[in-house]
Amino acid sequence: MAETGKLAPLLISLDGTVMTFAKLGLIEPLLRALEHLNYTTPTPVQAEAIPAVLAGRDLMAAAQTGTGKTAGFALPLLQRLTMEGEKVTSNSVRALVLVPTRELAEQVHANISEYAEHLPLRTYAVYGGVSINPQMMKLRKGIDLLVATPGRLLDLFRQNAVKFSQLQTLVLDEADRMLDLGFADELRSIYAALPARRQTLLFSATFSDEIRLMAGQMLNDPLSVEVSPRNVAASSVKQWVVPVDKKRKPELFSHLLRKQRWKQVLVFAKTRNGVDQLVERLRGQGVNCDGIHGDKPQATRQRALDSFKAREIQILVATDVAARGLDIDDLPLVVNFDLPIVAEDYIHRIGRTGRAGATGEAISLVCADEVQLLSAIETLTRKTLPRHEEPDFVPEHRVPLTDATGQVLKKPKKPKKPKESGAKGKLGRWMDSGDTPAVAPQAKPVRKVPTFNTGPRKRKP
Ligand code: AMP
Repeated sequence: MAETGKLAPLLISLDGTVMTFAKLGLIEPLLRALEHLNYTTPTPVQAEAIPAVLAGRDLMAAAQTGTGKTAGFALPLLQRLTMEGEKVTSNSVRALVLVPTRELAEQVHANISEYAEHLPLRTYAVYGGVSINPQMMKLRKGIDLLVATPGRLLDLFRQNAVKFSQLQTLVLDEADRMLDLGFADELRSIYAALPARRQTLLFSATFSDEIRLMAGQMLNDPLSVEVSPRNVAASSVKQWVVPVDKKRKPELFSHLLRKQRWKQVLVFAKTRNGVDQLVERLRGQGVNCDGIHGDKPQATRQRALDSFKAREIQILVATDVAARGLDIDDLPLVVNFDLPIVAEDYIHRIGRTGRAGATGEAISLVCADEVQLLSAIETLTRKTLPRHEEPDFVPEHRVPLTDATGQVLKKPKKPKKPKESGAKGKLGRWMDSGDTPAVAPQAKPVRKVPTFNTGPRKRKP
């Protein structure tokens, strides 16, 4: 379900006129679909990617979330599939789009189906967590453009349900996320099965060293497209931090929900347990909410997501499985109940709001234990996040000051009014004994850069 028409500032082409999709060389059936979707002007990533992909170039594109990158690769790809190459044969695929999560597979395929509405092409999405048999049946006729998560695709390939001899284009969407989720081995096995002569397009919101390494191995003289500064979150998202004691986070959340009359909120928690606990607590307070994480069956996850998108539920609590690429229309607010362990995930999380030219807010509830995570985020985004203390929730364990240089500037101060007994006892121990927070301080912390050749990491976030 693509939402529409409000994304890009008007792009001006070299001759001084407004850039249009027609000027980028797209064919009439695609233009008609775009008109129907109310896409009037290409976004910057589309303006760069579409001509390059049409010309058959490899691409390495860094684009912020919500910049229209799906159409950036899908439109020219659909055009090439329509205009070039042979009719797809049984069990073959002609273009493959690899995505990290099931939800993203559904979403990307939904967008692609809309763009392809007037084209004589077969498109489909396969992913794990659902029965493989219907997918095998569907693949029998051959598919022009297949969206897939790596694990399920490999299963299908090993059972001879899918062949790559006709493959002309490979797209890696959210490539960094695929590595984060431990798909390196699957990706290697998939590449090994693909024809060496092919077009490869690599999209990623963040570009780590390992992604650059992977790109070096896979891409052939790629055009590099970087439409926004690296690792900078969408400027349309107003971000701030509320310092709070860890144990009071649930209470603070409910307080802010009431006080600020939050409407629709996507909340990120670190663990599956954390998601379940918060959902249970909010439901106990009569709040209409649901949760998604890797332990839940795919159908349940999709249902919760669909209800959230349809605004049938007010609050969706999620682990990072929901963080990337999901397109939720006009989402006004993202709350980080816990900060992410990997700083790049912060950018992806808050990228769920402020999309398609709208403004949004991202609020992080941060406790003293998370100071190193906060520092890593500020370093990555090159932005010191403003702090707003909530009067009744000023933390006993002060969150040390941080800034975008990666320094933790001050040791925790004593609270203004500690209760003589309990509070002082705890804080005193923290400060006097040189106790460290649960996350051990590191200079530039948090993310170990794995090499592309190492084994898989944890699959489910
Ligand atoms: P994406 O970054 O691909 O997830 O796209 C973000 C949102 O922008 C989606 O809702 C798209 O349907 C929408 N969109 C993409 N390109 C355009 C465009 N040129 N004009 C208007 N909306 C667009």
